[in-house]
Amino acid sequence: MPITEYVASLSQNPYFGAGFGLFGVGAAAAVLRKGLQASVVLFRRQCMITLEVPCRDKSYQWLLQWITQKGAKHTQHLSVETSFLQKDTGQIKTKYEFIPSVGQHFFRYGGTWIRVDRTREQQTIDLHMGIPFETVTLTAFGRDKQVYYDILEEARTMALKQHEGMTVMYTAMGSEWRPFGHPRRRRPLSSVILRAGLGEKILTDCLDFIDNPQWYTERGIPYRRGYLLYGPPGCGKSSFIMALAGELEYNICVLNLSERGLTDDRLNHLLSVAPQQSIILLEDIDAAFVSREDTPSQKAAYEGLNRVTFSGLLNCLDGVASTEARIVFMTTNYLERLDPALVRPGRVDLKEYVGYCDQEQVELMFLRFYKDAEAAKTFAEDVLSRKKPVSPAQIQGYFMFHKHSSPKEVLADVSSIWTLG
Ligand code: ADP
Repeated sequence: MPITEYVASLSQNPYFGAGFGLFGVGAAAAVLRKGLQASVVLFRRQCMITLEVPCRDKSYQWLLQWITQKGAKHTQHLSVETSFLQKDTGQIKTKYEFIPSVGQHFFRYGGTWIRVDRTREQQTIDLHMGIPFETVTLTAFGRDKQVYYDILEEARTMALKQHEGMTVMYTAMGSEWRPFGHPRRRRPLSSVILRAGLGEKILTDCLDFIDNPQWYTERGIPYRRGYLLYGPPGCGKSSFIMALAGELEYNICVLNLSERGLTDDRLNHLLSVAPQQSIILLEDIDAAFVSREDTPSQKAAYEGLNRVTFSGLLNCLDGVASTEARIVFMTTNYLERLDPALVRPGRVDLKEYVGYCDQEQVELMFLRFYKDAEAAKTFAEDVLSRKKPVSPAQIQGYFMFHKHSSPKEVLADVSSIWTLG
């Protein structure tokens, strides 16, 4: 059969016609689908604006909390973050904080709808924090980035407001600083009773340092200042640093140099990424290093561990690269155990002894518990006359023990200060 006849017969074949028609519909649908997909992509690119916030970013927690409290506050899909809050009385309160669960949420902000996608990648674990990697993506109509600036700024202000009047303690987790426990209410400087003038001296020094960055930049000196508080335990070294941080409106980053796995590199990194406006606190600095008197076997055992080396610490202290005021506080109970290289100016600029109570301190502590100036004087004289060193912590413990006693009873039982706990 000639080909033309064959084609004509096919076109008259109803089965072939239907098949061809179906093929046509299928092809058209495919083209349409592709076109639709392309236009969705195009629409997204041109008319929508997205913001991705990974969990490693500082604003991640702020944003999640802002979304639950302000943005998508009607969302019904939440996840919980439980924390414990220790009150000044020692009572522990459990606190539940809701944040948007993994998935999609919507909210309106400034007249636009915003979609929130919180995603968690099961395969990728954040090595530093040991938690699954997460991101929050915000998607909005329009091309104006301003909406995201506004949201982030609002979230930041809200987070800062929550911590107003509080001191946040940070500890090192991996190579990052993470808040440790709940922010604590600022301790008034006047509640830490040091020997006359000491507290003011350190505070004035810090304020002078914070107010004079140009003095350092003009001379090409790293803008940092080191303080060392030494003396017996229970005399207020840590309490004073906490109160000072509150007074300066700084937070505290506590670093334990004896921690295993804290290498020189990590220390260096941590010091350079410490949160703004924070005091770095290196507690019990003597415990972190071998002293020159240690036996060779002690030294060998110590050096086998993966820890900060003494020269590593010196390098870190010297090289803290920071454009903002970096205040480093170190404490020790044993000044004599410290290597002179650590306490030389530039590393430790102010070195102060925080010691046992003198008469004035005992009197002031008495007055904080009982408003009787006469009794305070008698009490302090009696305590000091016994010629036994007494720390403020011991005095505080004694007053706590006599919480419900009269000043008279307190005066009659002085000898038990040294026997309590
Ligand atoms: P240190 O760091 O010198 O070992 P702490 O600051 O940890 O001492 O003090 C332990 C406890 O004793 C804290 O509860 C603190 O309130 C109290 N305390 C210690 N020294 C003082 C002080 N100078 N004034 C008021 N309280 C003090």
